[in-house]
Amino acid sequence: MSRVPTLEDLGDVSGKRVLVRTDFNVPMTGPDDARTIVDDFRIRATLPTIEWLTSRGAQVVCASHLGRPKGIFVEKYSMKPVRARLATLAPGVELLENLRFNAGEEGNSPEFVASLIRGIDLYVNDAFGAAHRSHASIVGPARTLPSAAGRLLEREVEVLGNLREKPKRPFVVVLGGAKVSDKIGVIESFLQIADSLIIGGGMCFTFLAALGYPVGDSLCELDQIATCRRLMDLGKPIYLPEDIIGLDAKGRYATFGQRLPQGAKGLDIGPGSAAAFSDLILDARTVFWNGPMGMFEDDRFAAGTRTVAEAMAATKAFTVVGGGDSAAALAQFKLADEVDYVSTGGGASLELLELGDLPGLAALRGAPNVH
Ligand code: ADP
Ligand code: MG
Repeated sequence: MSRVPTLEDLGDVSGKRVLVRTDFNVPMTGPDDARTIVDDFRIRATLPTIEWLTSRGAQVVCASHLGRPKGIFVEKYSMKPVRARLATLAPGVELLENLRFNAGEEGNSPEFVASLIRGIDLYVNDAFGAAHRSHASIVGPARTLPSAAGRLLEREVEVLGNLREKPKRPFVVVLGGAKVSDKIGVIESFLQIADSLIIGGGMCFTFLAALGYPVGDSLCELDQIATCRRLMDLGKPIYLPEDIIGLDAKGRYATFGQRLPQGAKGLDIGPGSAAAFSDLILDARTVFWNGPMGMFEDDRFAAGTRTVAEAMAATKAFTVVGGGDSAAALAQFKLADEVDYVSTGGGASLELLELGDLPGLAALRGAPNVH
């Protein structure tokens, strides 16, 4: 597999107009016509790439999606507030309107690609969070323009690639979050590359159901039970919670074992499981964590996620966290600086770990400046 080109592979950028595909899909709040940015982490994360280009005399034009407007203008998803923030962080840098206001973006239409690269000399992809999508702005420009990965994308590929190809062992993977079906593919591939798998969060109930335990009203995907059964039969250790915290049939806070009574809802892993998972994390040499252990947005169900986050901070292992909600949980516990790497992509990081490649990376490798 040839190398993904980096900024150095662009040649002289002075006087060139450079289209930079960024992931400025920032969390926003407030009324539709006066949205404000909750956290500008994703904008600041792209500054090293932007500054590398502008300091060498390039004119930078950024382009990003924001939310899911489905191919039409939706005021709530206007880039206006992002453009204002960018103007203070990187004066003189342009930002196009939300790419997903045009159906050609998600449809990967040649006409939309042509409109994006009109008057543009070079293309840079720094939008790791969208690099798993075959959208126009991700796969189109590199067909004709000299192209490169920005610094953020370059680092993501390096860290996640190493995790996949040469992890220090034991390599423990911790998975949580709401839906098993989102993560089934990655579970399969982790069972090949990791030494053990810890499963918490809403997705643990489909696994518990596969063991024959009643799960009450907890999240459970009936059509995935057989798959979970098969994954557990592959022979790699899969650790599931042995105690669970949630609400009983009357809506009262309660602690359960692995069997949930009728009407009960599991919303966090219990303290015993959190301690056991912590021990596995502390003994590992590499840990990848995606997906909270419980409904951490509610304080009553945040303890399991907090304990796992603290173990991630305390372990000597190389620690990587992927996923929007997992990163938000770490930030909520003020532990984001205590792990080795926080990936900016949820779906993209899982897909890169699962498949070893992404459409956006393949496009860069095929660019005309790559030999
Ligand atoms: P990430 O964004 O880190 O990839 P996901 O999007 O897969 O994570 O899942 C995060 C969501 O899962 C959170 O909103 C959390 O409240 C929810 N969740 C975790 N455990 C449970 C549970 N037991 N029941 C319901 N929701 C849960
Ligand atoms: Mg999420």
